[in-house]
Amino acid sequence: MLDEKDIKDAKDILSRMNPNQKINYHTILTKLISDWKSRELRPKILLHSCCAPCSTYTLEFMTQYADVTILFANSNIHPEAEYRKRALVQKEFIEEFNKRTGNNVGFIEDEYKPVDFFRKVRGLEREKEGGARCTVCFQMRLDIVARRAQELGYDYFGSALTLSPKKNSELINNIGLEVQEIFDVKYLPSDFKKNNGYSRSVEMCKEYDVYRQCYCGCVFAAMDQGIKFEKNEI
Ligand code: SF4
Ligand code: SF4
Repeated sequence: MLDEKDIKDAKDILSRMNPNQKINYHTILTKLISDWKSRELRPKILLHSCCAPCSTYTLEFMTQYADVTILFANSNIHPEAEYRKRALVQKEFIEEFNKRTGNNVGFIEDEYKPVDFFRKVRGLEREKEGGARCTVCFQMRLDIVARRAQELGYDYFGSALTLSPKKNSELINNIGLEVQEIFDVKYLPSDFKKNNGYSRSVEMCKEYDVYRQCYCGCVFAAMDQGIKFEKNEI
């Protein structure tokens, strides 16, 4: 773990920016990276990911500058069989990535507690994807990653979710920056889709033959897309 004085807070970079300027979170991340490089630091980062696709390019990019562990914390995923499949594919991708690149990315799977997710989004079941239910869902998962990062002594926590063009990166970054106020660990800002990140992730999914799921994760998003579940899965 780095010395506390060496861990730069993204909020300090943001406070020096013109408040009327649209924030490019990829630029904020590159400023942090330049700072690590100039001081020869290699931070330890705990990154949340909800399945392998978003972790592909994110790991290719971040492992150049930091020691990364993926935290699979996704009690939103339904049904359990799909959750298990995504967790396994994530683990296998990391193993293969390490083998091909010589990296040593870690993998931690959090407990699967779907009841916690259902409790948190009660009343928001009918929201469309991208609405208030997703805000709660991002918050739930960023809270978990920040708590685990603090417990396990990481320098930063963040999420690979910002790679997805379907996810609101500004919202995810705002939540991450709010969550860092509660825990004793800094948030890693990102917009991994930038810098051609999304198209590289599509390429990497082909190169590594990674399973791509066809719905975001929860039963509500799946049903909106017309996915039919077996009776015992609802
Ligand atoms: S945002 Fe979608 S594609 Fe990306 S990790 Fe989550 S479920 Fe997978
Ligand atoms: S659509 Fe995706 S982000 Fe939104 S609540 Fe469902 S699983 Fe979470």
